[in-house]
Amino acid sequence: MPLIESEEHKALREAVASFARNHPRTTTGADNRHFWQEAAKLGYIGVNLPEAYGGGGGGITELSLVLEEMGAAGNPLLMMIVSPAICGTVISRFGTEAQKREWLPALADGSRLMAFGITEPDAGSNSHRITTTARRDGGDWLLTGRKVFVSGVDIADATLIVGRTEDARTGKLKPCLFIVPRDAEGFQRRPIDMELTSVEKQFELVLDDVRLPADALVGGGPSHAFGSGGEDAGLLQLFAGLNPERIMTAAFAIGMGRHALARAVEYARERIVWKVPIGAHQAIAHPLAQAHIELEMARLMMQKAAHLCDAGDDIGAGEAANMAKYAAGEACVKAVDQAVHTLGGNGLTREYGLAQLITAARVSRIAPVSREMILNYVSHQTLGLPKSY
Ligand SMILES: Cc1cc2nc3c(=O)[nH]c(=O)nc-3n(C[C@H](O)[C@H](O)[C@H](O)COP(=O)(O)OP(=O)(O)OC[C@H]3O[C@@H](n4cnc5c(N)ncnc54)[C@H](O)[C@@H]3O)c2cc1C
Repeated sequence: MPLIESEEHKALREAVASFARNHPRTTTGADNRHFWQEAAKLGYIGVNLPEAYGGGGGGITELSLVLEEMGAAGNPLLMMIVSPAICGTVISRFGTEAQKREWLPALADGSRLMAFGITEPDAGSNSHRITTTARRDGGDWLLTGRKVFVSGVDIADATLIVGRTEDARTGKLKPCLFIVPRDAEGFQRRPIDMELTSVEKQFELVLDDVRLPADALVGGGPSHAFGSGGEDAGLLQLFAGLNPERIMTAAFAIGMGRHALARAVEYARERIVWKVPIGAHQAIAHPLAQAHIELEMARLMMQKAAHLCDAGDDIGAGEAANMAKYAAGEACVKAVDQAVHTLGGNGLTREYGLAQLITAARVSRIAPVSREMILNYVSHQTLGLPKSY
């Protein structure tokens, strides 16, 4: 029977847990940057990136383990879902040699970060409806469109933008990915006033004829975008980023759920209002036990998805990653809810820090793909049920 987690993985888990626990809680952008760079120095941020480009040579298995432990210590780095997981994977698998050399060592050593923008105001969950479009202008590209809820654009050196190009032969719009530098002319960002306590902000983006050189297109020159030689390259690139994104969101959710549960258990062991600690009452103990079981089950699914992803089984990983994200989002929301309840009035004080997790936990139910869209996926792809849309 193969081990679910090797001795090396257990050691990595312990090392990250102790590093994140001993690091003060990050509350400002500067703290966050410092924590990111310290984590990168220890090889945690680029653990999944290829060794030849300065990474650790591991996979999403290791990267998700790192993020889960940071979250469990109350110190998660949201941008790990984006920079090394989505952008690092897409560039490692599909970038040109020059793109790999420019970005991978810097993403691994923490000196640069990359955001990822796919969501559009008029498309939402229906990414077939995205309209951000690139057209040729001499040797350059001009990119125009709008994005919404894109995380960390201000702290990222560039954003990987999902757009579309027109196929020269068929006129059909095909997805393609562009690396857009933060300060590119015509690339505007406006922070969205979110009800979230997080150092990473979400942005609305307007791209107004953003001029990009030919090599801003992931995977290379125009031949790819126009179909000769690299037919549907953009779609493959996009899919390569989605499984890591879902697995990492699961890790984020499981870490947060574990953190909330640990705070609640600690409190329930000590708080006495009758003769015994409140944790002795089954009405308090059982929901905490259930939360623990559900987080463990979600983690098992996440580990399966990560192993399939690292083994190159993109289809198998697709189903497992969706299920893991669903299970982790639900387990996280329930664990946080029960943790807040366990603390009674203290659950809503700033001092104990749990109430702010109520909104944070909901993110994993909504993004990067909502609970309902995963249920749709499983209904159609796994169970073969007909579609309503
Ligand atoms: C904190 C945060 C960070 C984010 N970071 C990023 C980022 O970095 N980059 C990025 O590109 N995006 C990001 N997003 C966006 C996120 O991926 C989207 O919010 C998500 O995909 C849902 O899209 P929407 O908000 O437009 O909801 P909608 O698509 O409008 O959906 C609204 C509701 O309708 C339901 N629904 C829609 N279609 C169906 C259907 N066919 N059947 C049943 N129910 C349906 C949904 O489940 C949902 O409950 C972030 C969002 C948040 C909240």
